[in-house]
Amino acid sequence: MTIGREPIEYLGDEYERLKEEGLTWEPRELQGPSEPTSLVEGRQVIVLCSNNYLNLSTHPRVVDAMIAATEKYGAGAGSDRSIAGDMSLHRALDRRLAEFKGAPASLTFQTGYMTNQGIVSQLAGAGDLYVSDELNHGSIIDGIRLTKADKAIYRHKDVDDLARIMEEAETHQPTYEHIWIVTDGVFSMDGDLAPLPQIAEIAAEHGAGVYVDDAHGEGVLGEGGRGIVNHFGLTRDQVHAEMGTFSKAFGIVGGHISGSEELINFSMNKARTWLLSGALPPGVAAATVAAIDVMTENPERVERVWDNRAYFLDKMKELGFDTGHSETPIVPIMCGDSKTAKELADFVWQEGIYVLPIVYPMVARDKARIRVQLCSEHTTDQLDTAVQAFRKGGEQLALI
Ligand SMILES: *Cc1c(COP(=O)(O)O)cnc(C)c1O
Repeated sequence: MTIGREPIEYLGDEYERLKEEGLTWEPRELQGPSEPTSLVEGRQVIVLCSNNYLNLSTHPRVVDAMIAATEKYGAGAGSDRSIAGDMSLHRALDRRLAEFKGAPASLTFQTGYMTNQGIVSQLAGAGDLYVSDELNHGSIIDGIRLTKADKAIYRHKDVDDLARIMEEAETHQPTYEHIWIVTDGVFSMDGDLAPLPQIAEIAAEHGAGVYVDDAHGEGVLGEGGRGIVNHFGLTRDQVHAEMGTFSKAFGIVGGHISGSEELINFSMNKARTWLLSGALPPGVAAATVAAIDVMTENPERVERVWDNRAYFLDKMKELGFDTGHSETPIVPIMCGDSKTAKELADFVWQEGIYVLPIVYPMVARDKARIRVQLCSEHTTDQLDTAVQAFRKGGEQLALI
């Protein structure tokens, strides 16, 4: 007897189904470095879809640090940090990051995804409650799914809905032992900000923990890019866990959790993604320290991201584009249906602009958009070229 269908056949069918529904993801091939302009599929284009907000991935000091550490320590760490791969460079990065974040301690992971999945899956369990914004990142959602904790989802950024859920949670029987409120700091599809001070206030009223994912905030928000906790002037008693990534503004790869010594000791001993997976290569750790140094010494890079964002946003608004709820260098160009978003992306691609259409199921069916991300090293000329391409495309598709 056999059960179900032949494995390879069903995988092929599933892929065909995704293709028919227009749900397959086909990334373009980048043939040059991640820079404001690059070679993509044979064309030199202006790149407006990179997370490399401060263009640090190609900064000479960052690249040199990676080469020097690789020559000295080799290409790989040889083990998980928890086993035999905890190099001085990893510890130096933990310390440097904590200092930058103004936190008592930090612990670095291999990716932001693994940080969220590893820690969120451990902070709470049976008899506890997670309260989560409906638009939180998939790595948070996966982390929560791995626990036996109850979960409640509040409407996006809606502090009244959050307060209502917390009131209800108070009367839950049996009484919850721990409650954590989890939120993205910057929401990556709209570029809007979590109302973190109000969230922290509500949490404090109920003795709940606050966990914020600052992936798109670091290098962008706060003094010299120190992130969302710094931006709102909150303390480590108000926001208990600040998570981040080195794959965005830091321009490399990796993740971290920052907060109290207690949080870090807990994470080191509980997060299975940290305990059971290989350490960051030494070159990556050294390059990340260099990226933090460059960020600290060149706060004007952070200012330039905001200047570029203001310039682009103003021009697009003047033209009559709907730019959604952007509060950061992520600027959505709202298009309505998925087809229009794809057509606009294709149109500006022909004009030498590389942007991504964000369509269902990443966003609601009628909320398809182009997501533009501004970087510090985009020139005014490049932004003007992009605006003109959007103007032509927007007129053709009757968006403006
Ligand atoms: C990108 C991102 C992550 C994942 O970070 P990686 O280091 O790329 O794995 C997690 N959370 C949010 C909100 C993100 O935008």
